[in-house]
Amino acid sequence: MPPFHRFQGRVALITGAASGIGRATAVAFAAEGARVALLDRSADALRDAEAAVRQSGGEVLTLACDVSKPEQVEAAVARTVETFGRLDIAFNNAGVENKASPVADIDLDEWDRIIDINLRGTFLCMKHELAQMLRQGSGVVINTSSGAGIRGVAGGAAYAASKHAIIGLTKSAALDYAKSNIRVNAILPGNIETPMMDRFTGGDIQKAIDLEPVGRLGKPEEIADAVLWMSADLGAFVTGASISVDGGWSL
Ligand code: NAD
Repeated sequence: MPPFHRFQGRVALITGAASGIGRATAVAFAAEGARVALLDRSADALRDAEAAVRQSGGEVLTLACDVSKPEQVEAAVARTVETFGRLDIAFNNAGVENKASPVADIDLDEWDRIIDINLRGTFLCMKHELAQMLRQGSGVVINTSSGAGIRGVAGGAAYAASKHAIIGLTKSAALDYAKSNIRVNAILPGNIETPMMDRFTGGDIQKAIDLEPVGRLGKPEEIADAVLWMSADLGAFVTGASISVDGGWSL
């Protein structure tokens, strides 16, 4: 039994919930009483995460949704609200890394793929989530940027550009809705132990550990802790913020 239930009765929607940071955050919300909608590219991919959320005691809805597709995003937000009656917290976290390449060699399709999922996907989710939050008169949105949202990445221009843009989108939306009882923040993870990190390092995790001032990778649960804090009433005066949880990487 968790020590407290900060999210009892609240509804949280999480994208990229099948894996890594999204999955850990879904489990953490459910363990504190939230009802959670898990979104990812396919229902199959969500099966494990769904079981983990149920085990931690939460009510759960799984929805296949490609965040870069407007109709799918609109339908998934609508299903969440039909099922649970409201939407209190949206964690827009789905994202993909680019194939490493210097700028002049970036393939246009690859550029579009990264921007479509990471940036357009975040925008599309926000568009429908914020409309619902305005109807209810409250809500919290948290977008996953990255340490690459405030630093350049050699060979990672598409990814870094998408993650920088998420911060601009977050700050602007925070201003748009500051007087509407809706907070919008970004989280900037450092090097976190997830399948994305495995792909990024090609299995040579030491490469990423060497970049971290604290000498270790972060755990997805450590990002989840920060997301929960930002979503809870404890974070009530925090909006438009870009919060690094990165063991000092961005320094
Ligand atoms: P992950 O690959 O383990 O999980 C990402 C999830 O997003 C997967 O389940 C994937 O299926 C889903 N996804 C991808 N494209 C999607 C789409 N079009 N529609 C719906 N779902 C989609 O990666 P992770 O490390 O957990 O990454 C989560 C977020 O954190 C990403 O936005 C990533 O850029 C960001 N991030 C990760 C790290 C890290 O070190 N792992 C660091 C900084 C930022």
